[in-house]
Amino acid sequence: MIFTVAIDGPAAAGKGTIGRALAARFGFAHLDTGLLYRAVGAKGGDAVAAARALAPADLQRGDLRSQEAGQAASRVAAIPEVRAALVTFQRNFARRPGGAVLDGRDIGTVICPEAEVKLYVTASAEVRAHRRWLEVGGDEAKVLAEVRERDARDMGRADAPLKPAAEALVLDTSELSIEAAIAAAALAVEARLD
Ligand code: C5P
Repeated sequence: MIFTVAIDGPAAAGKGTIGRALAARFGFAHLDTGLLYRAVGAKGGDAVAAARALAPADLQRGDLRSQEAGQAASRVAAIPEVRAALVTFQRNFARRPGGAVLDGRDIGTVICPEAEVKLYVTASAEVRAHRRWLEVGGDEAKVLAEVRERDARDMGRADAPLKPAAEALVLDTSELSIEAAIAAAALAVEARLD
């Protein structure tokens, strides 16, 4: 069976939590595509060469979840040749037999427009910054400024900007608990599986 769940949305909206829950529930493979860009940003040097040479071991680094790695990822993610180098791997993952969930910024719009289910998971910048601050600590105002900076870069870039796919189901987790968001997402998957 080929079945793709495409989840897009800004940082700390709950994409990863929803993606992992759906993958576990339906027995699908899960790919956090942000990790690919984080790994490219963390390698330093020529980002295009780093993306072309990306290997599984690069995704195992312990420092990829930091705020700095997120900012570096969003800078290299604006380079079209970096994005192009990562397309085939993501497309193949999306259409692998057995079902796949991918979360990122351009999964439903660019990587897999034919996805059976498309979700756009969002929340206000304040809510997302508060969640991130609970994880990383420090100055909450600074975390909010970084969230806004990353949103602006991801939504404003020319190549594959972050936006909801035309037919995406929008889940706003500022108002919805994560459990309710997972339940709504699971219903959307079940409706397409039937
Ligand atoms: O989701 P995460 O916060 O790990 O993503 C880090 C950065 O990688 C994002 O801010 C975005 O710039 C980039 N990204 C992207 N396309 C994706 C996934 C992530 O441009 N599919």
